This record gives sequence, structure tokens and C-alpha cells, in this order.
Amino acid sequence: MYQGELRQPITRLNGIGPKTSAVLSAAGILTINDILKHYPRTYENRLRQVPLSAAAERTEAVIINTQAVVLSHELFGWGPKQTLKVIVRDEAGLTASLVCFGRNFLAEKLKIDSRILLYGSFQSRYNEIQSSSFEFEPIPDIVKEAFPAPEAVSGFSKNFGRILPVYALVSGLNQNILRKACTHAIQEWAQNIENEIPETLRTENGLLSKPDAVREIHFPESEEMIEKALLSLKFEELFHFQFSALRRAYSRKNAASRLKASPSDHPQAGILEAKLLPKIGFQLTAAQQKVLGEIKYDILAEKPMSRLLQGDVGSGKTLVAFIAALSAIEEGGQAAFMAPTELLARQHAENAHKLLSPLGIKIALLTGSVKIDKRQLLLRALAAGDIDLIIGTHSLFSETVVFRNLSLIIVDEQQKFGVLQRLALSGKNSSADILLMTATPIPRTLALTVFGDMEVSVIDELPPGRIPVETHLAAIGNEKKVYEFIRRELQKGRQAYFIYPLISRSDKSSLKDAESMFKQLKDGIFSDYRVSLIHSRLDENLKKQIMDDFRDGKIDILAATSVVEVGVDVPNASCMVIEHAERFGLSALHQLRGRVGRGTHSSYAFLIYSPELTEAGTARLRIMKESTDGFLIAEQDLKIRGPGNMSGLEQSGFIPFTIADLNTDFDILKDARRAAEGLVADDPGLLKAENSCLRRLLEACPPFSDDIFGG
Ligand code: ADP
Ligand code: MG
Repeated sequence: MYQGELRQPITRLNGIGPKTSAVLSAAGILTINDILKHYPRTYENRLRQVPLSAAAERTEAVIINTQAVVLSHELFGWGPKQTLKVIVRDEAGLTASLVCFGRNFLAEKLKIDSRILLYGSFQSRYNEIQSSSFEFEPIPDIVKEAFPAPEAVSGFSKNFGRILPVYALVSGLNQNILRKACTHAIQEWAQNIENEIPETLRTENGLLSKPDAVREIHFPESEEMIEKALLSLKFEELFHFQFSALRRAYSRKNAASRLKASPSDHPQAGILEAKLLPKIGFQLTAAQQKVLGEIKYDILAEKPMSRLLQGDVGSGKTLVAFIAALSAIEEGGQAAFMAPTELLARQHAENAHKLLSPLGIKIALLTGSVKIDKRQLLLRALAAGDIDLIIGTHSLFSETVVFRNLSLIIVDEQQKFGVLQRLALSGKNSSADILLMTATPIPRTLALTVFGDMEVSVIDELPPGRIPVETHLAAIGNEKKVYEFIRRELQKGRQAYFIYPLISRSDKSSLKDAESMFKQLKDGIFSDYRVSLIHSRLDENLKKQIMDDFRDGKIDILAATSVVEVGVDVPNASCMVIEHAERFGLSALHQLRGRVGRGTHSSYAFLIYSPELTEAGTARLRIMKESTDGFLIAEQDLKIRGPGNMSGLEQSGFIPFTIADLNTDFDILKDARRAAEGLVADDPGLLKAENSCLRRLLEACPPFSDDIFGG
């Protein structure tokens, strides 16, 4: 981001001696660049005058910034514990007490009749305006006016008459050290900082030049300039981010069209799919066919695919993933299919076994609970290329897993995985095709920005015959009606889920838990039905058994936690009861609701909430009632929570923003996107990798590079 010179050690600064630089180094501030990028946490405005009158008759603390004359000294308290109180008067004639707890030596510095610059936190107490937390500086005798004009103050004072930066401190540092180091860094080096946002864009977006922005962020001329500097630096950071995303998208597209495969090179392509389709018992939807076309094209092209497949819950992504895997296998590769839970991985493996084994595909399941000897066997087969499709949890990307020729990586429910985990898998073979799937759609704006360099495919259609889930809200206390309704559905032969926020009873909370409610449902209300319990603490084999029984109709009611949130597919289950629904996030609610409405029966979701709803909680439930459209829900979720939460990227520390914040700077992000696109449209040459300015941009913004895992 800065020229190389700025990477020089702080000892190059004139005013910084060995002691200070040792302290700074210990705090991780090693280079001039580091000190310039150690942006203030906040500011103290010692420019704007705030007279003592602002604290008059106010019991809460008020920041005062004024000039005063020392009137008198007093002592209060007894014996050696007596405390000095200095009475001062400001220009308007108001008096205040400076209480010098433990600092009686200040009597020396606050001589009677001396004039001072004064800054501190004041409040009205005991019939006077007083402060025990203040800073002052004498007004030198050479200043002739009794109270110099505020603008003149910075002429003789370093710490008054200006807006002072307040930095985050690490042990050993203090504000003075940092202010001094920054002053030197800016005086001596700011002119070396290069502008990387072209001037036209700066003008269009009201941004400062880089040297100005850096100077103003540390030592702002005015509050307005703080805002401008912040905007400028955030914009730059987000602009880099967007620019490199565009560039990656460009290079992928370019290479893909260059290497476009001709069908005659792949005589076997599509044979397995053609064998499979007649056996699935339904037609692919038009949307499934469309995205499959996109995916298969990418698989045949030599350039690695990087594609995000979005499709609402129940839209049939699994089948698309299977057909994609067939395509990769036909080309001689292996496919890895990763799911966030063991339950889901098993379900996928079973489906794959049913559908794909008859075609001669060799399938294996690898999860954390596969025993060591079986695991060894499996890993050997995988390394030898005897397994075509491996399905599993995150254990798929542990170090011991070696593929013979991994060519397609499928990540189901990608929102459940950290970005790093996903990349670790792709690190197994950086040229493998990657297909990320999600039903928690990333709103288009965010998809563009966070996944800016991925192609996006959307399944925008549900299989025919699906009836939207009818959603009802019920306050706690009205469960009876809900239970009666469920009973009628059970009588029709349907099944139901009951979801709770906790596994077991907790002393700390009055929330209903799955274990207790399971007993209540089984022994009480639904004693004439078969009720079972499932949660994450159960043994994996038991979980599997329970899910199998539920799927086979041997269980009528499943009391559960959010362990069934993603992926579970039991078409005959038509009722979803979520108790304490306010405890779940929108995407979790949408996913949970997606467990029903997967067959051709009418289906129902009941969201039972407790009366102590927060505003956000109310908003979430209302959206759930009004919409079954995952995209709309995700957009709303974004509004309620802010995009940073949604992307999960910042939490993972993966996007190293120093100053921008996806939660609050989404508008700047969009402007930066527009600016980057405009720039590229005017000069497509910028996208070519040879461009040296670009290389720096990439250095400044490393996200999504595969090689951070060392391949
Ligand atoms: P999701 O997209 O949520 O992962 P699934 O892949 O689990 O959805 O599919 C949901 C259900 O829809 C499954 O039972 C699947 O067999 C079925 N399905 C998938 N595609 C179709 C289709 N074209 N027509 C009818 N049913 C389909
Ligand atoms: Mg799924």
C-alpha cells in the first residue's frame, strides 16, 4: 500500500531514539508503515472551546476545553491525606475546582494568578463545578493577551488548540510516545506515500489524496476532516479489495474462454448422467438443467472452476452436485463432497450409494467417527485412486487425506464452514474445480463483493408440486392449539419436528430444552405416538439410526435441536414446530423451516416465541411469517444484522481490513465496487497481471489466494 521505503524501521525517524523504538517494537510497531497505519481509536477535540458554563448545573460529566486563571488553593480532608483543590476562573467569570487527588505537587505548577490551558471532564457537585480528571498547560508569558484567541493556541502549544489523536495502547506505550512518533513519521515521510486511487475517482467520490488522508487521520484540522480522512482510507481499502476480485474474475473468464473444450475431446462426457437420469423418478427442473450446463462446461474447460451455487432449501442441489461429480469422474478425476455435519454427510453418502453405485461409481464416507483401521484402508484406496467420490465432514481436509487426482471439490452448506476451512480443502489441489453450495443465499450485492471473483449459479425454481410452507406465529402459552393441529397432521400419517434451543435443562435459563420436552411429548401430549430425541451429543451411529427410523416412518415426532438444521431430507415430515423461535437467527429459521415442504403435502411451520422479544427478534419473526423466499429473507437478515456478520469473513480474520468495517461501511463498499468497475471499463489493460501498480494492489489485498496454505 505504501512505497517500499515506508517498510524501513522506525529507527529511521529522526526524533525516535533507541529506547522509544524498543517500546514501539515490543508493541509490534516496527516500521514507518506500521506507525502510519496505527490509526487513532478516537480523538480529543481541543480545538473547539467549551467554557465552564457547559458543565454548570449538570450532574453528568462534560468535557471542558477552555482557558483559565488560577484564583486560589485550598486543602480539604485531614492530616496527611489532605488533598489540594485549585480554584480557577475562566473568561466568562465562572469558577471551578480542580481536585488534585494524590497530586498535591501540582500546587507548584498551578501558581496563583498563572494562566492555563485546561482540558478535562467536569461536572457539578457539592455546589461547584469540579474535575479530578484534567490536563493543563501554562500559557507562556510571551503571550500578551489575557486569554489568547483559540486559533492562536496551537502556535505555542503542542497539546492544545488542536484535535489530538487517541491511540489504542499496548503495555509500555503512552499517547505521548505515539503522538510523537506519528508526528515525525508524517513530517518526514508522508510525502513519500503514493496515491493509488486515480485523481478522477478521488474527485468523484470526495476523497483526500493519500498523504492528506494519512495526515488528517492522525492530526485532523477539523472534525469534518476526520470524516473525510476516514472515508478516503476506507474507500481505498475497499477499492483494493474490489479491484483484485475483478481481476481474478477477469483472469478466470479469459482463461476459460481460451481453453474452451471441444466436445469431441471428451467422448465419454455425459454417459453416466444419461444412465442416471431415467432412474431418479422425476425430471430435472429447468433451473437444475441450466446450472448443470454451466458447471459441466467449467469442468470440461481446463481452467479451474470457482463457482457458488445458490438454491433455496429443497431446490435439489444435491442431485446437481452428484451429476457434477459424475462429470468429473468421467474425466478421470476424483470428487470430494464435504458437508458440515456427520448426519448430513451420511445422508448424502446413502443417497450417493443408492443412485450412483449402480453406475459403477466407488463411493466412500469419511467422517470423524470412522475407526482407525477402516480409515487407513480408506485412505489407501483414496490415494490409489480406487475411490471416485468421497463424502465427508471437515475431516476430508485433514493432512492425512491424500488424493490420487482430486479434480472436483463440492462444499455443501458452505455458509457453515469458515473460509479458511474451505480453502484448506482447495489447497489439496489448487487446480481442482470448486463448487460451493448454499441455501442461505448471499444477497447479490454481497455476493458480488465478498465472492466477487466467483461465478454464481442460481437454481431459482423449486421442483414442481411443492406447496409453500404455511407459517404461523404463536406466543408461549398458546402451544395447546399448535399441538392439536399437529395431532391432526399425525392422524393423516404425516410426521413432525419439534425444535428447541437447548439440549438439556439449564439452571441458568428458563428456556425449554429438547430432553425435557421429549419426555413431556412422549409421556404426555403425544403418548399415543412414537416420539424420539436427537441432538448433537448423541453417538453418531445412534443419530444415524434415529434419522433412518424417522425417514422410514418408524418415528412420528422428532424432538431435536438445530442439529437437523441443514440438509436433512424427509419428505413425509410436514410439520415444524420451533419453540423459542426468537432464539434462532433468520437463516437458521429458514433452514429449519426448509426441513418441511419437501414433499407434495401441505406443510406447516409454527414459530413459538416468548413475550420478551427484542426489536430485532420481532422483525425476524415477522419476515419469517411473510416470506418463504430465501433471497428476500437473506436481504432482510443483512439489514437486521449487518453484512459483516453474514459473510463470516471478518470474524475469521480473513479479510485483513485495517480500517473498513463491512458492518458499517457497506455503502462505501458499493461505491468502491462501482469505481473499480468504472476504472476497468475505461482501461481493461489494468486487469492484466503485468501491470506493476496492480501487483501492489494484490500485495495489499491477499484474500482468496490458495497458496497461503502452502499448496
Ligand atoms: P437442497 O437444495 O435443499 O439440498 P435436496 O437436494 O435435498 O435440496 O432436494 C430436496 C428433495 O427434492 C430431495 O428429496 C430430492 O430428491 C428432490 N428433488 C431434487 N430435484 C428434484 C426434481 N427435479 N423434481 C422433484 N424432486 C426433486
Ligand atoms: Mg442440501
